[in-house]
Amino acid sequence: MNLLKMAALGAAVALSGSIATAQEKFITIGTGGQTGVYYVVGQSICRLVNRGSDSHGLKCTAPSTGGSIANINAIAAGDMDMGVAQSDWQYHAYNGSSQFEGKQVEDLRAVFSVHGEPFTVVARTDSGIKSFDDLFGKRVNIGNPGSGQRATMEVVLNAVGKSIDDFSLASELKPAEQSAALGDNKVDAIIYTVGHPNGSIQEAASTIESHIVPVTGPAIDTLVSENPYYAKAVIPGGMYKGTDQDVETFGVKATFVTSANVPDEVVYEVVKAVFENFNRFKDLHPAFENLNEEDMISAGLSAPLHPGAEMYYKERGWIN
Ligand code: GLU
Repeated sequence: MNLLKMAALGAAVALSGSIATAQEKFITIGTGGQTGVYYVVGQSICRLVNRGSDSHGLKCTAPSTGGSIANINAIAAGDMDMGVAQSDWQYHAYNGSSQFEGKQVEDLRAVFSVHGEPFTVVARTDSGIKSFDDLFGKRVNIGNPGSGQRATMEVVLNAVGKSIDDFSLASELKPAEQSAALGDNKVDAIIYTVGHPNGSIQEAASTIESHIVPVTGPAIDTLVSENPYYAKAVIPGGMYKGTDQDVETFGVKATFVTSANVPDEVVYEVVKAVFENFNRFKDLHPAFENLNEEDMISAGLSAPLHPGAEMYYKERGWIN
């Protein structure tokens, strides 16, 4: 019996009340825009956690948020208990580098990683954009502040020696708005670091003539070879209308993170709910199809594992 159950039982005996009312604890998971995959990650985890509320007392909600950076900041401030964040931003937050210079989040803890997220550029076909360099001088949605893609876009611009001033327009629309802006010819291209397939890109691909643009070249090769949280990535041809061939880019992993201040038994119960219902979890989104436990507990994680997660992984014999 775990600590939380013991406490719940004790409280129930003391109050002669129901376990659930005595020990309810609300947890919040930060996600992303509603047309992305983070939202589904959070909703899916909560759905599995809430199936066991009667026994562990946890009630989970996963609201839509601005994305990776917003989630890490909310966890650091104690406004959220857990959240989804790109592996590059988990790294920088824990190490106090890049956007987190002077704002290190020492209490950040890794729980597990989820799907891969290729850095994805979608352009209107009539814009003539065929490569990342073709974006300069064009109208580009660089993403909302707080999103992972916005922050990673700045890293890429830096790497190629350019800035957002090199676009004729740099808009900051959220994922839920950017496909419509592409369709209405308000922008020539959109950027999204996201798992595939997803609703946002599907919307763009099915409503206008558009295609996914490769993100390659020496600067990208250097980014990938010098940073453990980046890897080469391929968006499979045939997944979206307008993109029949595989498209090369680079990418990160979506990771699930929390704070050292969140109690061990809470993280333990959340992790257990996911891995004890793993096939059910994988069925909740096509981007989860190829997930496996071994990768999830190691790949893309740079902050220390939260002890509650570690407890469960040890119990399963996955780590020593
Ligand atoms: N990678 C994006 C971010 O960090 C979110 C992608 C999604 O919502 O699936 O903001």
